[in-house]
Amino acid sequence: TTKREQRNSVRAFSDDLRTAADLRLALETEMRKALEQGEFELFYQPVIEYPHGGILGAEALIRWRHPKRGLLAPGEFIPLAEECGLIVEIGEWGLKTACAQMAYWIRNGVAPDAVAVNLSGISFRHVRLLAAVRNALAGSGLPPERLELEMTESVLMSDVELTNEILAELKRMGVRLMVDDFGTGYSSLAYLKRFPIDVLKIDRSFVQDLAREGSDAAITSAVMAMAQELGLDVVAEGVETEAQALALARRGCKAMQGFLYSRPVPSQQFIAWCGQWLNG
Ligand code: C2E
Ligand code: MG
Ligand code: MG
Ligand code: MG
Repeated sequence: TTKREQRNSVRAFSDDLRTAADLRLALETEMRKALEQGEFELFYQPVIEYPHGGILGAEALIRWRHPKRGLLAPGEFIPLAEECGLIVEIGEWGLKTACAQMAYWIRNGVAPDAVAVNLSGISFRHVRLLAAVRNALAGSGLPPERLELEMTESVLMSDVELTNEILAELKRMGVRLMVDDFGTGYSSLAYLKRFPIDVLKIDRSFVQDLAREGSDAAITSAVMAMAQELGLDVVAEGVETEAQALALARRGCKAMQGFLYSRPVPSQQFIAWCGQWLNG
C-alpha cells in the first residue's frame, strides 16, 4: 500500500468513528427529547394465580413510541440509555408513572394486587434510588406493599455488601423485592438467604422446555424447593402454553406470567383485559 492509500484508509476509519459517535449523540439527544415530550410509555402484563385466576400483579414494561421508527422495545434503547446515564431519569419516570397508574386503578376499583417495576443496575446503585422510590410512593399515595421492584441476579450479586444495604432500606419502606430472570445469573445461596428478597422470577428459558422431562424441569423443581426453604414466592415468566402452566403448578409454582394469558399491552387495554378476565 502506498502512503496515500494508508492516509485515505486512516481518514476513512476516523470518519467511521465520528459517524458512530455522532449517531450516539443524536440518539442521546433524541432520547432526552423523548422523555420531555412523553414518547415513553409503560405497557403492562398480568401475573395470574393458577388455577383460580386471580390477578396477582402487573409488570410494567417500557416502550418508546418513536415518531419515525414506531414502537421500540426496551432492548433497542435501554442499553444506550444505560451507557449515557439517561437511564436514571428514565427509571425515575418509570417508577413515578407505574405508581400513579396503579393508584389510579385502585381508586377506580379494578386493580391487580401489585405493580412491578424493572430497575437497571445503574438505577439500583444510584444515590437517588431511595428518594425516587419514596417520591413515587408519596406522590401517588400508593401503599408500598403494592409496589414491587425487579432486579436481576447479576445486579444483586455484583457488590453484595452494598446490595444488602440498599435492599434493607427498600424493605424498610415496605415495598416487595423480586429477583428477575432467576437462574440465568450466578446467585450464591448464602447471599440469597441474607438478602430481604420476597419473590424469585424463574427465567423464561427454563419454562420454555418444561412440558418435557429433562434438565429444565429439574432446575424448576430445584428452584421451587429452594424457594420453599427460604420462604420466597415464585413467579414463572414466559408461560406460553397450558402444558407449561400445568407442569409449573405440579411443581408448586402458582404464579404465571406470559403470552398464554396476555402480552404486555398499553394501560387502557390492560385494565380492560382485567375486567374481562375477572367477569367474562
Ligand atoms: P424482563 O423484565 O425479564 O421482562 C420480560 C420480557 O419477556 C418482556 O420483554 C416480555 O414482553 C417478555 N415476555 C413476556 N411473556 C412472554 C412469553 O410468554 N414469551 C416470550 N417469548 N416473551 C415473553 P420486553 O418487554 O421486551 O422487555 C425486555 C427487558 O427489558 C425486560 O426483561 C427488562 O429487563 C427490560 N425492561 C423492560 N422495561 C424496563 C424498564 O422500565 N426499565 C428497565 N431498566 N428495564 C426494562
Ligand atoms: Mg422483569
Ligand atoms: Mg424477567
Ligand atoms: Mg427475562
